[in-house]
Amino acid sequence: MTTTHNSHIDVEQLQFQYPGAEEAVLSGADLTIEPGEFVAIIGGNGSGKTTLCKSFNGIIPHFYEGDMRGQVTVAGHDVSESSVADLSQHVGYVFQEFDNQLVSPTVFEEVAFAPMNYGHEDYRERVHRTLDLLDLSGLEDRFVWELSGGQKHLVALAAAVSLDPDILVVDEPAAQLDPVNARETYDRLAMLNETHGKTVVTIEHQTEFIAEYCDSVVLVEDGIVSWKLPVETALNQLEDLRGQDVHPPQVTRIAERVLDDARPLPVTLADG
Ligand code: ADP
Repeated sequence: MTTTHNSHIDVEQLQFQYPGAEEAVLSGADLTIEPGEFVAIIGGNGSGKTTLCKSFNGIIPHFYEGDMRGQVTVAGHDVSESSVADLSQHVGYVFQEFDNQLVSPTVFEEVAFAPMNYGHEDYRERVHRTLDLLDLSGLEDRFVWELSGGQKHLVALAAAVSLDPDILVVDEPAAQLDPVNARETYDRLAMLNETHGKTVVTIEHQTEFIAEYCDSVVLVEDGIVSWKLPVETALNQLEDLRGQDVHPPQVTRIAERVLDDARPLPVTLADG
């Protein structure tokens, strides 16, 4: 294992091609995310946002036998040389398809699943602490399949938080949830970020949530990180690009998408 820089996430020249795919999804992405940041990743459909995030907890390259080049270092661990099990203790992940990651009948069992599997004898305390933290106490004995979509998303978040990772990645919460439930999730993420110092990374297209909750914005285009900027600068940058003949053209297109719908919010940047 190697330690590079003093940051939690450090992506250097990351290239990745899925097995059987004709071309690389990521083609030299560079990104640094500092501890305690709240970052939104934006970009068009298929630009590589999810693949980039899946490198943070080692799903890329360990679950896909694709061709990976470059280096991703998370909390001092080179992901290529670390197991997904080790990385899960540093990175909690709520997938876009969060329904599929819920594997247990009850909420208690779901949140206990990871701590039990990691041999934490205090798993009961961890479950109660986590549910309390996320304001989900009382749901312990509920069947997961009976819950609303918003509650299921929060349970998936609780399961991700149960190992007390420093980094949380949530893929497209606002696209999966109605605005009220998306706000519930963002409020919890903000609390985890502000009160518990968690680094939070969301893939997000709605400027309402980006502007309100995030510190900085990362633009992914065609498999690279075009820029990472403080949130206000990012939103201004997108505004400045509007109407100009700026290259690469995708940036302009994304800026136009932001601004065409900029009032009223929320605004969708992506195609879908
Ligand atoms: P984004 O999150 O920006 O929409 P993704 O990282 O999900 O982008 O996907 C980028 C590209 O990689 C897309 O063209 C997608 O079809 C492709 N892709 C994603 N997952 C796989 C996979 N398991 N096998 C092959 N191609 C994939």
